[in-house]
Order: sequence, then C-alpha cells, then structure tokens
Amino acid sequence: MWDALLFAAPGTLASAAVAGLIGLLVGSFLNVVIHRMPKMMQRESDNYVAHESGKPLPHQDRYDLVMPRSGCPHCGHAITAWENIPVISYLVLRGKCVACKAPISPRYPAVELLTGALSFFLVWHFGSGAAGLASVVFAWLLIAMTFIDADTQLLPDDLTYPLLWAGLLINLQGTFVPLTDAVIGAAAGYLVLWSVYWLFKLATGKEGMGYGDFKLLAALGAWLGWKMLPAIILLSSVVGAIVGITLILLSKHGRENPMPFGPYLAAAGMIAMVYGNTITQAYLDYLF
Ligand SMILES: [Zn+2]
Repeated sequence: MWDALLFAAPGTLASAAVAGLIGLLVGSFLNVVIHRMPKMMQRESDNYVAHESGKPLPHQDRYDLVMPRSGCPHCGHAITAWENIPVISYLVLRGKCVACKAPISPRYPAVELLTGALSFFLVWHFGSGAAGLASVVFAWLLIAMTFIDADTQLLPDDLTYPLLWAGLLINLQGTFVPLTDAVIGAAAGYLVLWSVYWLFKLATGKEGMGYGDFKLLAALGAWLGWKMLPAIILLSSVVGAIVGITLILLSKHGRENPMPFGPYLAAAGMIAMVYGNTITQAYLDYLF
C-alpha cells in the first residue's frame, strides 16, 4: 500500500521532508503570531481611544512580531536559540522554563508539530510546484487564525484579507480553480454567511457569528471556488456539531458560551483543499 501511495504522490519524499522541517520552524513563529497579534490589536485600539480623547498613549514601547524578544511569562527569562528549537527544546526541557521551572504550555510544540506535519503532507500531496507551495502558505495562515479565534473569538483582518488576496492571485493562473470561480467564490462566501448572520439576528435578536467568519469564508471561496462552498459549509457544520456536542457532554463548555466558528471553517477549508473534489463527487453521485 505504501508503495502505491509513494508512487502516486506527485511530491517526492525528500521535498516533503524539507517542507516538514521548514513547517516546524514556521510553526514556532506561528506561536508568536498567535500569542502577540491579539495583544497588538488591543494595544492599537487602546492607543487610538486615548489619542481620540487627548490622553497620553498607554502603550509607547515597541511590541510587534519581532520585538521584544520572547521570554518566560512567569519569570521573564529571555528564551535563547537553544531553548527555541521546535518540539526538541520542549522535550529536552521536559516542558519547563529553564530558569524558574514554570510549566510551558504543550500547545507550543503541538502547533509546531501540526504545522510541520501539514506542510509535509501538502507538498507530498500537491508536489513542490506552485500548488504545493501555495497550499502550505494557505495552511500556515489557517493555523494562525484557528488558534487566535479559539483564544479570543477574533479573526484579525491582517490574516483574513491577505488570505483572500492570495487566493485570488494564485488562481490568476487557475492553479486551484479558474479565476472566474475564485472571484465568484469570494463574493458568494461572504454573502452566504452575511445572510445567515442577518437572518439569525432578525429571528433571535442574537449574533451567531462575527464579520471575521464572512471574510474567512470569502477567502476560502477565493482559493477553492464557489462550487466548493456547499461542501465547506457542510463540513464545518458537521465538525462543529461533533466538537460542540462532545464539549457539552464532557460539560467543559456551557451551552451558553459563545463558540468560535473560525476553527471549524479553517478545518473544513483545509479538508476541502485536499479532498474537496472527492467529497463533491461523492455527494453528487448520491444525489443523482
Ligand atoms: Zn521562567
């Protein structure tokens, strides 16, 4: 079976392995993005509010994806290069800060592993050409959005819009779908969730999702085309329902707590990029 898989794969094992290693390093950077981007947005909005009311700016120090250097949140110990090797440092340090022994969240190596594994798989699946490289960038942005939305219920415009533009640009050459399908996909993706949002709001007076979700589905439509939107919505609802019911059964999550929709959209987009055509064909066969 492995012979058949390797033979059928357009990417070589070597190029996939290189992608996997780069993915581990990028995963380490994505941890910084996931941790800092919501804080950067909050600081910017605090400064804006202060500026508008003529007060001194509350945040004047530099804080972005590069500065200040990463440190232990408990003792402030600056993390050295040796302590920053993806996954390996975590294992060597046994998940503890080298200075104060405070536990390091296992989510850091988990994000690194996930990013490495997806990068490996995508290059193996799509090859090391334009489709393979683009699909890897697609995955990286989706991973960042998934964890930021899970943490903060926000999908930053600084991530959703670049993903949308990248999807339109990569399809200029029809890499994943014809450009027409991509443009209609972006508009339709936005409109579908926008309509659901307003119908839900008019019917119940509540807000079921955020504008970030519309932008994310628009971005997925730009990458995968409008024909893939039904499969993406179906997949995200199924994944969302399974996870939601599981969390309620484990009673870790009250029914009243808001549930971010972004992670499910992102997961569905990832599945649709790789298996979308197979899934679409299966349900068309089933219907007709
Ligand atoms: Zn520490």
